[in-house]
Amino acid sequence: MKSWVEISEQRLAANYRLLSAAAGNDLSVLAVVKANAYGHGAELCAPVLAAAGAQWFGVTDAAEGATVRAALTEAGTPAKHQPRVLVMSESLDEDAETIVHHRLTPVVSSVDQLESLARTLQDRHQQQPFEVHLEIDTGMARQGVSPGAPLHRILEWLGTQSTIRLDGVMTHFASAEIAGSHQTASQRILFEEAVAQIATSGLRPGWIHAGNSSTVDNPAEGPLPWLDTLARGLGARAMVRSGLALYGYALPLECEQSYPGPVKTVTPQVRARLQTVMTWRARITALREIEADERIGYNGTFTSERRMRLALLPVGYADGLRRELSSTNAHRGGWVILRGERAPIVGRVSMNLTIVDVTAIPAAALGDEAIVLGEGITADDHARIAGTIPYEILCAVKEKRVLR
Ligand SMILES: *Cc1c(COP(=O)(O)O)cnc(C)c1O
Repeated sequence: MKSWVEISEQRLAANYRLLSAAAGNDLSVLAVVKANAYGHGAELCAPVLAAAGAQWFGVTDAAEGATVRAALTEAGTPAKHQPRVLVMSESLDEDAETIVHHRLTPVVSSVDQLESLARTLQDRHQQQPFEVHLEIDTGMARQGVSPGAPLHRILEWLGTQSTIRLDGVMTHFASAEIAGSHQTASQRILFEEAVAQIATSGLRPGWIHAGNSSTVDNPAEGPLPWLDTLARGLGARAMVRSGLALYGYALPLECEQSYPGPVKTVTPQVRARLQTVMTWRARITALREIEADERIGYNGTFTSERRMRLALLPVGYADGLRRELSSTNAHRGGWVILRGERAPIVGRVSMNLTIVDVTAIPAAALGDEAIVLGEGITADDHARIAGTIPYEILCAVKEKRVLR
C-alpha cells in the first residue's frame, strides 16, 4: 500500500476507559461514532468501543446506525446484547423503516416525526413500545423542541399512546469548551425547566443526557454533577456524549472572562492522557535532487535556495490532506515525519501528490514510511495551519483504514 491509515485499537479502548473513569459512576459515556467515527472508520471502531464497555453509540443517521449494527454483529455480538444506537440528527419519514428494522433509537423533536414513526410501527405490527429520545433546544437553534407550549404538545401526544415510549431526554451545548460559559449556564436552566415539565407530565424517561468531550474535561462544568441530580429526580440515569476525545483530541479549554474558578485539577489530566488513535502513513514513491533556483510544484510558489533533496508522497488534498499545508519561500506550511524527523512540505499540496524536503534526512529512501498525520504532526497542527478545528481534519481523511 502506498498510503493508509492505522487505527490503534488499544488507544481507542484506553481513551474510552479514561473518559468513562473521569465521568465517574454516576455518568455514562455514549460513544459518538458519527461521520464514520470522525474519519477513523465506524466499522473498525464500534466493536472496539463496545468491548471497552460502551453501552451507547451515537450516529448521525439511520444508514450509519445500520452500519454500526452490522459491524457489531460481524464482530460476534448477538443483536440482543448489542449497545443501543442513538440516531442524533433529525430523520426523514423515509428513514423510519431502517430505524425500526435495526432497532435504532431516534432523536425526535416534533409530533410529525412521532406520527410517522408510529405509522411505520403499526405497519410492522410492532408489539413492544418503541423507544425514542427527545431533544430539547436550549439555545443552539439547530435541532430540538423548545420548552413550554411546543414541548407540552409532544408530551401530550406521547402520553396518549402506547406504541412509542420516551426513553431519553437530551440537549446539546453550544460552548462546552468554555469554562464558566454564560451560554452553557443559560442552556442548563432551560434544560432543567424542560425536565421539570416532563416530570410533571408523568412520563419517566430512563436517560437524561447532555454535553460532549469538552464537558467531560471542562474544569468548570465536568463531569456535570447537576445532570446526575436532574436524572435522579426522575429515576433516570445521566449520560454525556463523547466523540472527539475518544479519538485522542480535545479542543483547547477557554475561560469565560468572568469565570471565578477555582479550576478543578482532576479533569485537565484527562486531556493530557488522551492518545491519538489515527496514524496516516504514506510511502516515498520517488526521490530527486534539484539545484538552487528551481521552482517546485504548481505555480512555482517555492524556489530552491540551495541544492535540495526532495521526496514525493502519494497523498494530496483529494485524500484529505489540507491544501493550506502548502508552503512558499516566505511562508512555512506543514510537514511530515520521516525517520523520526520533520520533513517540511515544499510548494503546493496537489490533488494526490505532495513534495517534502528531505535534504536534512540523507537516509530517506524509496519506500520509506512517512507519518502524514499522527505522532509528531497531529490533527491539531493541521487544524492550526488550515485555520480550522481538528474535527474537520480527521473527518476528511479518506485513506483505507486498518486496525492495528
Ligand atoms: C457530535 C456530537 C457530540 C460529540 O461531540 P464531541 O465534541 O466530539 O465530543 C455530542 N452530542 C451531539 C448531539 C453531537 O452531535
